Amino acid sequence: MTTNNITKGLLKGAHFLIKPSNTDEIFTPEDFSEEQDMIRDMVDQFVEKDHLPLSDLMEDGEHQHNRILLKKLGDLGLLGTHMPVSLGGLALDTNTNTIVTEGIGKTGAFSTTFGAHTGIGMLPILYFGTEAQKEKYLPSLISGDQVACYCLTEPGSGSDALAAKTRADLSEDGSHYVLNGQKMWISNAGFADIFVVFAKVNGAEFTGFIVERGWTGLTLGAEEKKLGIKGSSTRQVFFENVKVPVDNLLGEIGKGHLIAFNVLNTGRFKIGPSALGGTKGLLGVSVNYAKERRQFGQPIASFGAIKSKLADQVVATYVSESAIYRTSGLINDYVLKLEEEGKSFEEAKLEAAEEYALESSIIKVATTDIVNMVADECVQIHGGMGYSEETMAARGYRDSRIAMIYEGTNEINRLLMLNLIFKRAMKGQLDFATPAMRVQQELLTGKNGQYNYNSTEEKAISNFKKVALMLIGSAGQQAMKGKLDLKHEQEILTNLANIIIDVFLAESVYLRSAKHKQPINSAITQLFLREVNERIRSEALEAVGSFVKPELQEGFVAGINKFCSYPLRNTRNLKRQIADHLIANNQYEI
Ligand SMILES: Cc1cc2nc3c(=O)[nH]c(=O)nc-3n(C[C@H](O)[C@H](O)[C@H](O)COP(=O)(O)OP(=O)(O)OC[C@H]3O[C@@H](n4cnc5c(N)ncnc54)[C@H](O)[C@@H]3O)c2cc1C
Repeated sequence: MTTNNITKGLLKGAHFLIKPSNTDEIFTPEDFSEEQDMIRDMVDQFVEKDHLPLSDLMEDGEHQHNRILLKKLGDLGLLGTHMPVSLGGLALDTNTNTIVTEGIGKTGAFSTTFGAHTGIGMLPILYFGTEAQKEKYLPSLISGDQVACYCLTEPGSGSDALAAKTRADLSEDGSHYVLNGQKMWISNAGFADIFVVFAKVNGAEFTGFIVERGWTGLTLGAEEKKLGIKGSSTRQVFFENVKVPVDNLLGEIGKGHLIAFNVLNTGRFKIGPSALGGTKGLLGVSVNYAKERRQFGQPIASFGAIKSKLADQVVATYVSESAIYRTSGLINDYVLKLEEEGKSFEEAKLEAAEEYALESSIIKVATTDIVNMVADECVQIHGGMGYSEETMAARGYRDSRIAMIYEGTNEINRLLMLNLIFKRAMKGQLDFATPAMRVQQELLTGKNGQYNYNSTEEKAISNFKKVALMLIGSAGQQAMKGKLDLKHEQEILTNLANIIIDVFLAESVYLRSAKHKQPINSAITQLFLREVNERIRSEALEAVGSFVKPELQEGFVAGINKFCSYPLRNTRNLKRQIADHLIANNQYEI
């Protein structure tokens, strides 16, 4: 079943870098259907009525409430919104699933429980399980009667997940594998029933398995004493001669990396709406305190320095939201297209997640950086009270931090972005060369015959893309000639990734505000483009200094100055306008 929201045109993955987009091609929160609004309200009610009363108890270590809450969500159908109807799910469209994830994101620690169960826990079985495995395990996970977890990380292998040491050896009679090893940092481990585990068959072939909690030899470590998300369960899991029936091998022997990485593609995107839920919550906490707290005879919200922080928080939230729903819309439409072409539910979702892997990494990095910035400013707005457990600021600050670490650290995700772009360019799936040459031509001749811009903002976005094309094109060329070994140039790759991220964010914000013209959207866009203009300039200059020969640098610097020329704005007035809008609404309401 799908709800609606099909946008026009289908911009393929990573193509935003080489093609202009228009407002028809972007899905935004303003486009939610009535049904989607209803689901959002339903999730909000769950958060307020069911989660909130248990939140402090879970924070204090009463993790069993996680299970009760999952069951409640299962009863509401909200654990299976992304699962096929035949297995008890609701098979709702991607955009509705994004809305559900965002809503649960407001719960902080519990959103990790929810994500580990519905995402990395259930998806490997949906995407790679046999029909028998799906029928055996997924209905009870969808109903919330059972809980799943995902065991990839080990003490010696985190980012380098394929270096896992856990092994699986086939028994002599060929009936089962014997699992031995240790996993670490496993969310939901304390109360999970179903463990998706990665192990090396014969110590060599990385493979997935479905393991049940009750099987002899599976034991758990103590709860980790964590910095944040204390309400969630995180433990080590030990396997000592655990007998796993051959029927529980997941996917193919030696193909576990396909499961692990494809599921992480989806997981990375889902971190975005989850972080957005937290971001909006913290923004609400910030503005309410700023209105209530008085110093020097007036609410601190009346001070320009505080308004500036509130405005920055609003802008960041709008950026996060615009980029997330744009990506969600792209994935949504791609899934529908593939289903129309005859792909199964699972195939379509898996393929769409892979298609938009670049956008998903962008979402992962940008939205988790944003929630941390907003949490940090939330503490600062609270002053001393931000350092106290009496307000939600401190908990929000601690809870946000994990998002930059799990599902691929933000460093790894930045590196993955360039890897993906160069791979697609080499395969001929992403024609970087033609637009990059056009940019070179423009710099040489000073002529820009091709583009007609409707606004200063549209021109700025196009120019930011030119910076990306110029630098990625040049780095790629040097790499092909053997003059730059990009594998060992992580600083440069990070500069380029930061530019790519900002291009995507800036375009998402611009397109949304052009689609839904409002004074507040326009103010946010102008403020954000000023910020991005300077960030891209700085990243680009750093990259040029690092890899362009000194005698060629002048040309590049001239290009960067030409393309990073979004005009100055009265940022003070824009910030006041945005902060006053927030103060009037008491919460993020665009
Ligand atoms: C609360 C919590 C819950 C978690 N839940 C789960 C779960 O449910 N299932 C699961 O399997 N795992 C889970 N994890 C593990 C998580 O995914 C890993 O912690 C994460 O992937 C990073 O691995 P690591 O901790 O070993 O860090 P490392 O890989 O040791 O990284 C340390 C630092 O080095 C950087 N780094 C590493 N390699 C490179 C490189 N090649 N180039 C540049 N920089 C690099 C990293 O970015 C990081 O900054 C969880 C972790 C936590 C803390």
